[in-house]
Amino acid sequence: MKKIILFLFCISLLALQMNSQNIYPLDSDYHTFESMENEIIQTAIRYPMLVSWEIIGYTATLKLPVYAVKLSDDVNRQESYEPSVVIIGQHHSEEPLGVEVSLHILNRLAAAYNRYRFAKKTVNRFEIWIIPTLNPEGMSIVNSGKYFNKRENLSDTNFNGILEIEKDGVDLNRNYPFNWDTGNSKNSNIEEVFDFFTDSQFCVNDRYYRGPFPSSENEIVSITHFFDRIQPQLAIFYHSSISSLYAEKIFFPWKWGRIHSDNYHDMAFLASYLAERLPKDYVDDEFYDPHFHNSSLSGFARDYVYHKNGTLSLNVEMGGIDSTGASIVFPANNQMANIKKKHYKAFTDLLEVFYDNLLSGKIEYKNKQLAALKPIFIEDEPLNYRYPLQTDENGYFHKFFLPEKKNTYFTIDNTFFDTEVSKGEKFVIRKNPPYFVDTDLEKPLRTCCIIQKSTFTSFM
Ligand SMILES: [Zn+2]
Repeated sequence: MKKIILFLFCISLLALQMNSQNIYPLDSDYHTFESMENEIIQTAIRYPMLVSWEIIGYTATLKLPVYAVKLSDDVNRQESYEPSVVIIGQHHSEEPLGVEVSLHILNRLAAAYNRYRFAKKTVNRFEIWIIPTLNPEGMSIVNSGKYFNKRENLSDTNFNGILEIEKDGVDLNRNYPFNWDTGNSKNSNIEEVFDFFTDSQFCVNDRYYRGPFPSSENEIVSITHFFDRIQPQLAIFYHSSISSLYAEKIFFPWKWGRIHSDNYHDMAFLASYLAERLPKDYVDDEFYDPHFHNSSLSGFARDYVYHKNGTLSLNVEMGGIDSTGASIVFPANNQMANIKKKHYKAFTDLLEVFYDNLLSGKIEYKNKQLAALKPIFIEDEPLNYRYPLQTDENGYFHKFFLPEKKNTYFTIDNTFFDTEVSKGEKFVIRKNPPYFVDTDLEKPLRTCCIIQKSTFTSFM
């Protein structure tokens, strides 16, 4: 008996120790690129009404597919009246946790759909898109155990015709076509901006290399086209902080010295909401921190998608710091399971508050013609370093407002609307003369009133 107890004690000690260690090659529950592919396909077969997948592009060197998985009720129909959310689990392949977290969110929501009202509500309300990895080439190196520190894709960046895993590759989260040219603070004319990476983004052999030109990489061309097509209202990018500098923080666009993004407060609210639900991995009673300090100017996904598509975006840095100060980015299975669980819960909570504060609508002309792809100009939201929101191809739009916001006005196609912010409600705006009417949308509707028609013709 004593022996058994001693044995159990040793096992638990080992488990404790494993909890705060990086394990490489990765522990057995991590996916390889192939097992991830297989799981996506099997999940879609298992839940054909809820899950579908597509390939949004191929990598240049190994010709590997980039998968986008859609999770929604009636998944094979495009439901414009449902807001879209995109999760990208991975840009940097030495950060494998995000792939696991995003696959877990997919599987758990799909599996819980018929069993839990909360899951059903979440899946019914949104079109959720999950891209477990945007970097299949890098993932194929790290997750197969070949090299733990591979960050970029496998582009032959020094053009020597040899595939050098440690030197080649572009940092995909520096290659987006917004702020690519600044790349670091030296070339930036915006004061007080701090960038940790200094010159590294210009060097072809560096792990932070930004690429020869903006959108030089297939992965980035694929994802920017995808964003244009989906026009997501919310995007979550999962990363892990290898250096521990950014561990357990949430970044969002942007604070460049005295310049804040137009929707800084919206994103600060969402980042704080999420952070409050994410306890740190190895410190009791502490939670993730939203990053309110200056942000660097680089070709980041989070800044790009907000600038181009008006998408509110959060960059979640996982990888907790243990008692020795090490950043744990390759945790063992049992610890990874805890991490997946808490991020699933926090993500679904975030979607709930996001939905409750969305104003959704459809805009039509009197002759029933759709007001498709029309810019929307919102009261007191200037257009600093970004494009306006747009209606989608079916005339729908979704706009997040802070909970305290009670009313707003906006202009669409030269017509001025003044409305209560009927959050979580859906309505149709008909123009010419414009008025809101009840529709046959799935939710009960609150009728809103048009206060006046504007003579505004210019918005800028
Ligand atoms: Zn990263």
